[in-house]
Amino acid sequence: MAIDEKLIGDIVAEVIHNYEVHGTGKDATLNANNSFDGDIPVGVSARHIHLTREDLDTLFGAGYELTKLKDLSQPGQFACKEQLTLIGPSLRAIEGVRILGPLRKRSQVEISKTDSVLLKVNAPVRESGDVSGSAPITIVGPKGIVTLKEGCILANRHIHMSPNDASKFNVKDGDYVAVDTVGNGKRTTLWDCQIRVNPNFVLEMHLDTDDANACGIGNGSKVKLIANK
Ligand SMILES: [Zn+2]
Repeated sequence: MAIDEKLIGDIVAEVIHNYEVHGTGKDATLNANNSFDGDIPVGVSARHIHLTREDLDTLFGAGYELTKLKDLSQPGQFACKEQLTLIGPSLRAIEGVRILGPLRKRSQVEISKTDSVLLKVNAPVRESGDVSGSAPITIVGPKGIVTLKEGCILANRHIHMSPNDASKFNVKDGDYVAVDTVGNGKRTTLWDCQIRVNPNFVLEMHLDTDDANACGIGNGSKVKLIANK
């Protein structure tokens, strides 16, 4: 079939026009955030993988060292250049899943509920590090494959803060609070947000991509702590 050049030209012009008139979703979010004076900055956690030394060796070869891409907001945590593929019982794959360093005592895969549906993995909501009895998942690397018997979770909503911040918000480590996403795309109250207090922590709420997208919030958005239950 011949390509209808005029039709393609019309479509491109229409798309460009729409971007000029309405802006991209990203810009719209930024504009909304600029006028919002909230309490707690948000960091959105995309799906990612934490590995043990042993699993890193299996996936990349013995003695492999991770390559730091950039530091994350919490001190000592970093994103790596290396990415892996996840496969679940559906036999569908999610490629390009980033490794976060440093290495840990137990391997852990954090995905969104949407990912869990695609992979057909029955991942429970857990605090990072609490992987006992969580879902199995297969990780594919350039040199090998690792199937975790347990380790796949949906990370719980949580707020990192220093002891200073904790006294300011009148909360303590392990508390669960609610936050209001007022001022952002789709105003929502998020319950069951775990408070994590550590002298090294920088004030930031961590949400997965499903939560963030549902509320229309992103990195740098701000939310208000509204209830300490
Ligand atoms: Zn976190």
